[in-house]
Amino acid sequence: AKERGKKGICVYSDDMNEEINRRLEITNELENAISQKEFYLNYQPKIDVRTGRVVGFESLIRWNSPRLGPVPPFEFIELAEQSGLIHMIGEFVLRESCQFVKRIMVDYGPLDDFRISVNVSAVQLLNSGFYQSFFRILDEAQVPYYMIGLEVTETAVMENKAYVCNQLEKFRAKGVHIYLDDFGTGYSSLNYLTMLPIDILKIDKSFVDHITVKHREYQVVKMILALASVFSFTTIAEGVETKEQLDILQEMDCHIIQGYYFSKPLLEVDAYKMVLERNPL
Ligand code: C2E
Ligand code: CA
Ligand code: CA
Ligand code: CA
Repeated sequence: AKERGKKGICVYSDDMNEEINRRLEITNELENAISQKEFYLNYQPKIDVRTGRVVGFESLIRWNSPRLGPVPPFEFIELAEQSGLIHMIGEFVLRESCQFVKRIMVDYGPLDDFRISVNVSAVQLLNSGFYQSFFRILDEAQVPYYMIGLEVTETAVMENKAYVCNQLEKFRAKGVHIYLDDFGTGYSSLNYLTMLPIDILKIDKSFVDHITVKHREYQVVKMILALASVFSFTTIAEGVETKEQLDILQEMDCHIIQGYYFSKPLLEVDAYKMVLERNPL
């Protein structure tokens, strides 16, 4: 923490120095991480509660830096946004995800009830080149637009509501599915929900965590699901870790479950095996 010097001047403590150094180091190492092929993806399955089938995956980026070791996304995404590297990282994530879709299509053909979603931050959404670059990558890979989804947070949408909504509408018009991520943690009013161009609502893990023990969280999730049904949104619960949570969510008619209970994020080979196991041809 900061310590006060004699005349009220801030003096940096060792802790703060360390923190700043770590951020500088990460920013430096990020610079060449793409060209050095230090990134790869994990895929976390989304399971249809009723059928038990895999209805898709969420792509989650992983970075194994030779100098820093594994660095979790919460440490580097923000820094990548600040340096602008997030755009190249986003393109990498999309290209890789398209390759996985193609692998699935070899066995299953195009599927309209299966898709891979990628996370996009406000910085990406607000970039004027994002839309073009997104569809160029899908076209090059020859992946149907409806097999890719975009996960956006309420907070990202609120950065510039009019522009972002307009952009999302353009993606949707082409068949791309829009997921509203971490729902319930932002500050959007119900009024916005009627205007947001989204298809799927993801209930944040923080609600799911307490659903079995806290009456309030239980009621909030119930309310969110009722709300989603009014708008005809598909619903996903994230961070589901136990059978008890699953049972309650199933009883409440939540459509899709994501979380450690079914699977941690997987390497592509293992994600692919899971599809073969759960979705008989
Ligand atoms: P998120 O979009 O909310 O992703 C869900 C996070 O929860 C992931 O963490 C996932 O590994 C973790 N998770 C899933 N199920 C469970 C569970 O049952 N229990 C627990 N304890 N955790 C669970 P991860 O992979 O560390 O990602 C953290 C955040 O980093 C993501 O949050 C997302 O906001 C961001 N992120 C990840 N990949 C990308 C990317 O490619 N681009 C961008 N812009 N952001 C990304
Ligand atoms: Ca997400
Ligand atoms: Ca989330
Ligand atoms: Ca979350």
